[in-house]
Amino acid sequence: MDDERLLRYSRHILLDAFGFEAQERFARAHALIIGVGGLGSPAALYLAAAGVGRITLADGDDVDLTNLQRQILFREADVGSPKARVACTTLSLLNQDVSVAAMIDRLAGDALENAVASADVVLDCSDNFATRHALNRACVAHGKPLVSGAAIRFAGQICVFDLRLRDAPCYECLFPDTGEAGDENCATMGVFAPLAGTIGAMQAGEALKCLAGAGTSLCGRLQLYDALAARWQEIGFERDPACPVCSQRT
Ligand SMILES: [Zn+2]
Repeated sequence: MDDERLLRYSRHILLDAFGFEAQERFARAHALIIGVGGLGSPAALYLAAAGVGRITLADGDDVDLTNLQRQILFREADVGSPKARVACTTLSLLNQDVSVAAMIDRLAGDALENAVASADVVLDCSDNFATRHALNRACVAHGKPLVSGAAIRFAGQICVFDLRLRDAPCYECLFPDTGEAGDENCATMGVFAPLAGTIGAMQAGEALKCLAGAGTSLCGRLQLYDALAARWQEIGFERDPACPVCSQRT
């Protein structure tokens, strides 16, 4: 690491839990962010600013006027352009050390498998259960840490499924895929803008901790945030031995 980078990242390098070694790990790491919206915007900005060497952004949508209320990666001039592509440009301007790639199709099948297999950490910033379960299955198959966030109305939640660990529960253990759960989305339910920032920034934090191997993660701990009441709640949970997704994992 040269002097300029030592200076640039000095406020992280100064942290006892991180230091020089963690910063080098960030530089070598690949983060996959699924969904470049309210959660993905702050998550991607923090990971790029922190010097995560490679970031892949996957989102099939274009920027819409209603996104600007909370999706802080985008500007008025970006309305109508592909979110992942706009985000790539913004992140590259923020930090030229970061190699950014955009996937502007909804990730599925082999493309999803390959993207997850090549990532060191995966951030689920999506807004639907089909994507969440597909992403979880891929993370279980490839043993990748999954940092999951959600925000709707004034309710946020965050959890880590560190599938590098043998006994870690997966998303399916916590939220079994019954095929019945209807998606609640921001378009019909609304969402408190700074709540997306709170949860997205926490996802970036948990991702960096996963990469650095620092501290205690939210693995096996679901945290719920009621932004209207300004209250946090934590629920512990364990791996489901009968889980159809992870019980056969070796
Ligand atoms: Zn499971």
